[in-house]
Amino acid sequence: MLSADGAAVGFNGVALGRSQVYGTVAEAVCVQSARHRCPSTWCDCGFYCFHEAEQARALACDEQYERSVLLEVLASGRYVSYELGLRYQRQTVRSVRVGRCRCGRTAAALDDVGGGIVGWRRLEPVCRECAGRRAVLALETFGALSGVPVTVDEGSGYSALAPLAPLSEVERARVPEVPDSPVARAAEVSPDAEIPLLTAEVTLLQARLDELQRRLGRLTDRP
Ligand SMILES: [Zn+2]
Ligand SMILES: [Zn+2]
Repeated sequence: MLSADGAAVGFNGVALGRSQVYGTVAEAVCVQSARHRCPSTWCDCGFYCFHEAEQARALACDEQYERSVLLEVLASGRYVSYELGLRYQRQTVRSVRVGRCRCGRTAAALDDVGGGIVGWRRLEPVCRECAGRRAVLALETFGALSGVPVTVDEGSGYSALAPLAPLSEVERARVPEVPDSPVARAAEVSPDAEIPLLTAEVTLLQARLDELQRRLGRLTDRP
């Protein structure tokens, strides 16, 4: 999150934690009751962490968490263990890892995506192409304001996803430009049938070139 005056950044929880914005060093706040300290064994409040980063990445596949970033934290204060990690009172963020842009490309900045809360704009990772000419927050600026490094998280789950290769020059040349040329018709038939058509096209061009060279030779008086 980026503060309304652009001078501070913070982290917004998910689910019930959406009403709070926490700084780099923060104490958990219970939104259910102010009468007990976090984390209470009678409540589900407190910060939650996983022992393994892969478990956090697995959670981020869920629609509710997919736009979240991965925080490496130092947990301290009171804590309760749960099956995958800890529920605890105080955290110090050590690093921020942003996932990919919605389009699947590597993130290059943070974009104001709307859906903020009073005093805070909500940011999401965005790639260079999707950002285009829009004003975005550089990862380095977020890092400077938060005081922790911000890196791009290319977790193993992303390895299978890659943008399609751009059309090569060869494929581009096969896109018909003049509908009636033999090359244009060749693009619609099988590669084997394409060979005689292309050969014929080359022969025609060669004959035309010979004719032009003869005429040029006559005009310039050269053999
Ligand atoms: Zn509570
Ligand atoms: Zn993108």
